[in-house]
Amino acid sequence: PTFKALGLIDPLLEAVEQLNYKQPTDIQVEALPHALEGRDIIGVASTGSGKTAAFALPILQKLWEEPKGLFACVIAPTRELAYQISQQFEALGSAIGVRCAVLVGGMDRISQSIALGKRPHIIVATPGRLEDHLENTKGFSLRGLKFLVLDEADRLLDMDFGPIIDKILKAIPKERTTYLFSATMTTKVAKLQRASLSNPVRVEV
Ligand code: AMP
Repeated sequence: PTFKALGLIDPLLEAVEQLNYKQPTDIQVEALPHALEGRDIIGVASTGSGKTAAFALPILQKLWEEPKGLFACVIAPTRELAYQISQQFEALGSAIGVRCAVLVGGMDRISQSIALGKRPHIIVATPGRLEDHLENTKGFSLRGLKFLVLDEADRLLDMDFGPIIDKILKAIPKERTTYLFSATMTTKVAKLQRASLSNPVRVEV
């Protein structure tokens, strides 16, 4: 199928064309229709599969349909991955005016707080620094959040971010859509899945 047949809106079709994505990857074909229907998703897929666009495109489409303040939060295990995810959101969402902020360790907290003050739609974060901002940055909360993405969940848990993620989950509305992506489905990932997703569709490539 084409991206158009999967139900993407014109500004996003133009973005994928500009990025020279000729056709959707397998994970995108599997995930996009369910995501656009509003389902929670478990994606078993690794880097290189096109998983980032598989979760970024439906989030951007919903953002275009109902633009609101802080919209989505993506949690990733490493700084590098967080920056890559943010870059893809910006590349795919430039036509709809998406604003992203990256909150990762080892980088200046103050400039991150300033970025949060500019009312981003999408936050991409590593767990520790996100928790730090939730506790210490005045006026920042995840109360209006519509989407949560847990990317590379197996690595997040291997790096012992489980307890911090549990705390973050308590700061996020229960009424939300959640996507969990993982290269492998371990017992720990299954437990996190039960704690964070509701009636998910599982897609696997
Ligand atoms: P990811 O698996 O999300 O890390 O993506 C791997 C790479 O594939 C990234 O550089 C994306 O820009 C690229 N990509 C994602 N979707 C497509 C597509 N449908 N066609 C071609 N390249 C893609």
